[in-house]
Amino acid sequence: MCVSCGEMHPKKELLRMVKTPEGTIELDLTGKKNGRGAYICKSLACFERLPRAGKRIEKAFGCKLPEELSARLREEFERVRQEESAAAAKGAEPFGDG
Ligand SMILES: [Zn+2]
Repeated sequence: MCVSCGEMHPKKELLRMVKTPEGTIELDLTGKKNGRGAYICKSLACFERLPRAGKRIEKAFGCKLPEELSARLREEFERVRQEESAAAAKGAEPFGDG
């Protein structure tokens, strides 16, 4: 379930976020980091509404999500998405010169 919109989605359509021992929350791109995790849609809209997902966030992480942290998660997500589309574009090239 997405912690932001609360809808059920297949896991491959969700991104894992994890609360580190230091108490910050970050994207877990490998899905293997230790810590309390929560899932969110791979959708910018869901990152944008994270600050309003108060109760679900508290349930998932046992704490509130500070606004600057949700802004940082959103930036990280945008970066990851750009990298993914860059990688996809690269993979689509019929001939590499490497
Ligand atoms: Zn969602």
